[in-house]
Amino acid sequence: MALLITDECINCDVCEPECPNQAISMGPEIYRIDPSRCTECVGHFDTPQCVQVCPVNCIPVDPGHAETNAQLWAKYRVLQIAAGNPLGEAIAAGPLPAPSS
Ligand code: SF4
Ligand code: SF4
Repeated sequence: MALLITDECINCDVCEPECPNQAISMGPEIYRIDPSRCTECVGHFDTPQCVQVCPVNCIPVDPGHAETNAQLWAKYRVLQIAAGNPLGEAIAAGPLPAPSS
C-alpha cells in the first residue's frame, strides 16, 4: 500500500527530504503523499523512511491504495525508468524478488 499523511501533520518538514521517490510534497495545508510515487520505500529501504522520522506518527498505510509487495516493486521499477536511472532497464528486466511479507 501507499502511505498517507493525516491531518495530525504539524508541517515539521522532516519527511519530505527523506523520501527516495519524491512522493511527499506540501499540500494546501499539510504535507501529502502521491500514491503513484510511494512504494513504502520498497527498492530503497527496508522500512518507510517517512514513518521513521515523523515526530507525531501521522503516516499510516492508505487503505484506499492496497498493493502487493510485487506491485510495489513494479512501481519502483517504473519510477527508476522514468527518472532515467541508467540501471532502470536492468532493474526492470531483473527477476522479481521474493516478497518479504
Ligand atoms: Fe516516500 Fe517511502 Fe514514505 Fe512512501 S514510505 S512516502 S516512498 S518515504
Ligand atoms: Fe507532517 Fe510527519 Fe511529515 Fe512532519 S514528518 S511534515 S508531521 S507528516
